[in-house]
Amino acid sequence: MPRGEAAGDGGEFQSPALENLVRNLGRLPGLGRKSATRIALHLVGGEAETRELVAAVETALAQVRHCSRCGAITEDDPCRICTSPRRDPTQLCVVTSPVDILPFEKGGFFQGHYFVLGRLLSPLDGIRARDLPFDRLQRRLATDGVKEVIIALDASVEGETTALYIQRLCEDRDLKLSRLATGIPVGGALAYTDEVTLQRAFQFRRSF
Ligand SMILES: [Zn+2]
Repeated sequence: MPRGEAAGDGGEFQSPALENLVRNLGRLPGLGRKSATRIALHLVGGEAETRELVAAVETALAQVRHCSRCGAITEDDPCRICTSPRRDPTQLCVVTSPVDILPFEKGGFFQGHYFVLGRLLSPLDGIRARDLPFDRLQRRLATDGVKEVIIALDASVEGETTALYIQRLCEDRDLKLSRLATGIPVGGALAYTDEVTLQRAFQFRRSF
């Protein structure tokens, strides 16, 4: 089918296969029916490019996995961060998602290990402690010689709830527990900072 050709009664194509493709694409995050339709038409219109895409998806599905120690996205398990002799296993940075590791690694200022929770506690949405890998986190704290836990979670109600829960888990252990500072972003203008952020920045002000 030539690129961009679309037809059909009642907003549906005369091809169940194309409809099925649109439906599947529409399930992807951030894609509504309109975008899904545009992408589907693009895909069926360019065979070589589409076969390459399908091959890339299949390769990624076969090779990409989560590190069984930290939860990072990797092709080797344990991942390169967990096995690197240059990293400090006594520092453990707890993050929500594997993508949260990327800015730390890009910055290069943290040389410890990570622990990915996968999600945050949200009792209102039915996400409770048993839905998060706290057992695995506790085993890690008990056996891996961790001396410092750095909580690097979103500055949201769910992030706050989860941070407090982790704080309770660490209470009886001989650990240094810290959280990322919250405040005015670098390059941010004070006049345009929202009051919650400003209040946090004020509350956690530090001396020169
Ligand atoms: Zn790992």
